Amino acid sequence: MKIIDTHAHLYDLKDPEAALLEAGEADVSDVVVLGVDLASNEKHLELEIKTAASRYPRFHLALGLHPGNITTPQETQMCLDLIRTYATKIVAIGEIGLDYHYKWVVNDEKKKQEQRDVFRRQLMLAKEFGLPTVVHARSAFREALDMTIASGVKKVNFHWYTGPVDILKETLDAGFMVSVSPALEYSPEAQAVARYAPLDRLLIETDTPVRGWTPKDVWRTLDALALIKGMPREDVLDAVNLNARNLFGL
Ligand SMILES: [Zn+2]
Repeated sequence: MKIIDTHAHLYDLKDPEAALLEAGEADVSDVVVLGVDLASNEKHLELEIKTAASRYPRFHLALGLHPGNITTPQETQMCLDLIRTYATKIVAIGEIGLDYHYKWVVNDEKKKQEQRDVFRRQLMLAKEFGLPTVVHARSAFREALDMTIASGVKKVNFHWYTGPVDILKETLDAGFMVSVSPALEYSPEAQAVARYAPLDRLLIETDTPVRGWTPKDVWRTLDALALIKGMPREDVLDAVNLNARNLFGL
């Protein structure tokens, strides 16, 4: 059985090629690799070329500017230009979204407005090119959902979702997917999401390199999800693989 990691950041791993090889040996067939700023997006573009061999899992690139990585208007523009340049070669725009949890944002309306602008402009690109988006939301679940619905983008993954269940319900009603990480092993918020969301709306991921996870750890996410759903892991795997293929067109 082969598995797909739908969310990994490889740029700041010490040895991303080794992590990918290890994942390939562990039957990870595909990895969706997401950037967060100009430097990480450029690194992933290089890494995609370096790992284009059958011993590596298939590498699927998503480009984006994360709300926690906004610097200058110039860099924002360069990121958007990069996305536009590669729009026909990538599987998604991500990781993008809203995060008001940061100390330098929580009480700063200007910073929040900046995040909204950057998010909106990337949603507009996704709409223009018909690309799926991978959305990060923290302390801004309502706004992130409302902006995504307003954008008209239909293929959306709210990644590592930990929002309240009423907003989760609306997220699912809007036709969007949510993903869970290995935090499913211990996080009550993630477990509540996995219990509530139907299997045809769930994706599994690692958010590599968070907590030292690498793409092979997506098996841990699968096992935790199978336990919560009370289903054989093969059946859960078939379902989440299909969801990933449908959403990202893998
Ligand atoms: Zn991420």
